[in-house]
Amino acid sequence: MSTNNSTIVGGGLVGSLLACYLAKRGHQVDVYESRPDMRKAGYIGGRSINLALSVRGWTALEKIGLKGEIEKISIPMYGRMIHSVSGEKNFQQYGKEDEAIYSVSRGELNKRLVELADSYENVTFHFNELCEKVNFQDTSIDFFNFDRKEKHQVKADKIFGTDGAFSRVRSAFMALPRFNYSQNYIEHGYKELHIPANAQGEHQLEKNALHIWPRGSFMMIALPNIDGSFTCTMFVPFEGEDAFDDLATEKNVVDFFEKYFPDAIPLMPNYIEDFFRNPTSGLVTVRCNQWYQNNVCLLGDASHAIVPFFGQGMNAGFEDVRILDELMDAQNEQWSKVFPQFNMLRKPDTDAIAQMALDNFIEMRDLVADEHFLNKKRVEKLIMADESNQYLSLYSGVSFSNERYSEVYKKGLKQNELLEELVLIDDVDLKIKSEEIKKKIRQKINGG
Ligand SMILES: Cc1cc2nc3c(=O)[nH]c(=O)nc-3n(C[C@H](O)[C@H](O)[C@H](O)COP(=O)(O)OP(=O)(O)OC[C@H]3O[C@@H](n4cnc5c(N)ncnc54)[C@H](O)[C@@H]3O)c2cc1C
Repeated sequence: MSTNNSTIVGGGLVGSLLACYLAKRGHQVDVYESRPDMRKAGYIGGRSINLALSVRGWTALEKIGLKGEIEKISIPMYGRMIHSVSGEKNFQQYGKEDEAIYSVSRGELNKRLVELADSYENVTFHFNELCEKVNFQDTSIDFFNFDRKEKHQVKADKIFGTDGAFSRVRSAFMALPRFNYSQNYIEHGYKELHIPANAQGEHQLEKNALHIWPRGSFMMIALPNIDGSFTCTMFVPFEGEDAFDDLATEKNVVDFFEKYFPDAIPLMPNYIEDFFRNPTSGLVTVRCNQWYQNNVCLLGDASHAIVPFFGQGMNAGFEDVRILDELMDAQNEQWSKVFPQFNMLRKPDTDAIAQMALDNFIEMRDLVADEHFLNKKRVEKLIMADESNQYLSLYSGVSFSNERYSEVYKKGLKQNELLEELVLIDDVDLKIKSEEIKKKIRQKINGG
């Protein structure tokens, strides 16, 4: 076992999971987190209250024996429940019958991961420590300690920057030659609302589904919590028609809800108070080309923040940790090899999921209620039902497999071309098992 020292900046979801992995490898791990200890202070901050955990996230948790612990605090969601304006509900299953994505409280998950990391004797957490600057020359970090109200410096062997989308560790990379960086906000923002449990403490909507109110240019979603409530998130443009800047008065908010989400109003007794109390936040995609320099490496949102419409930001960050661990094995922890390979392997994959997450917003807010899209989905389901086709939909590839995102993305483009062709065929449902169509499928999916 190695006796490396590793310093992690950011004890969020990815940083605390990374601490577990490094501790298991025998590293002496120090985690510096700018917030107070959430086990004592409760979870403050954080953008969304619950998150969807899918196969990539579970795989990373399972590899280190944490799956069972996290399963206890998660709820399976087997499909989307689409709510029309007139109040009809339509369930669309995600994958095979037993396949689900899981709703888990961000705060609880982070707390468990911190507890689990802290249970290793070779891990030390340092809270209220704000990283101000990383120095590549001597691998040191300048911190500001909020308790003592003073600056201090820490020397490290290796630094892992897991300090999120607005990473201070990453800002040190900005001064490097040929460092490319981009940050793109979409025109929509988000706001969280709440559907409480009923008087019996039960869920007021189907518990095992991700609820969506698709309304074309905007939408609301709701994910279940274990206390019987749902966390709702509205994704609405900041400006223009049906936009946040229009929703400045109570009357406008009530009119908006009555027009677009009438079936949700009786479930949300405090939606107006919630609307004005809760912040409206932006949604950003962050891309950069270089994730390492000397002994400093970025992971998670620090190197690739994405919009949340595929529910993959955390899953991709957890996958980073698993892949880094595999490379540490393969390269016997020679960092001069591990970091460049990590960057080379992961960059195309995180670029692919960044794009798929943007594309999926259009699917969720608009296409799930579109007839042509639903026809394609129906045909796709028929293809998938025949296992001899070896066809995995884009959604399943992203959410229910560990296949590289970049491969899933490439296949998805071809699948879409195929489905566009197939829906034009008369009686395609009856012909789907014909040799002619099977050949088409084979040709397209296997690179035809
Ligand atoms: C609305 C919304 C919904 C989402 N839904 C999903 C979903 O369903 N599924 C999914 O997989 N992902 C989802 N995500 C994405 C997910 O939240 C992120 O990808 C994930 O939190 C990234 O983890 P991280 O550890 O890299 O960063 P973070 O979770 O942001 O953690 C960073 C940590 O670093 C600390 N920190 C920051 N700056 C400093 C500093 N200077 N010094 C010291 N510490 C610092 C922070 O306090 C924090 O604890 C969603 C995101 C949003 C905005």
